Amino acid sequence: MDCIFCKIINGDFNTEFVYENDYVAVFKDINPKAPVHLLVVPKVHVESLNELEDKNLLGELLYAVKETTKKIGLKSYKTLINTGKEAGQEVFHLHVHILGGEAALPTV
Ligand code: 5GP
Ligand code: ZN
Repeated sequence: MDCIFCKIINGDFNTEFVYENDYVAVFKDINPKAPVHLLVVPKVHVESLNELEDKNLLGELLYAVKETTKKIGLKSYKTLINTGKEAGQEVFHLHVHILGGEAALPTV
């Protein structure tokens, strides 16, 4: 399967994982949109939230957000899941964005 995130998880590019457990890997976004921009990616291939059947995986993804941000000492952050092309999804392997740092905070 020609999926870039499956290849990263498979270790094809020697990508450094900020956090990893049996279910997810977390690595830096290649084109960061905030001072801290990480991607929490399940180790199984699921195209998007629309194709997700395993409810437990959602818990694993969000718990990994918490574990990762705790590990790196990031107390304030946003999480984002783009679902579908029109919503801006570019990589069709489910992932949760972690966006942190000044630029990710509300400006109001
Ligand atoms: P999406 O738009 O699908 O929600 O987010 C995909 C994200 O993956 C984008 O922010 C993009 O910069 C990132 N990305 C795309 N290709 C790669 C890659 O090969 N490595 C890494 N680390 N991030 C990638
Ligand atoms: Zn994949």
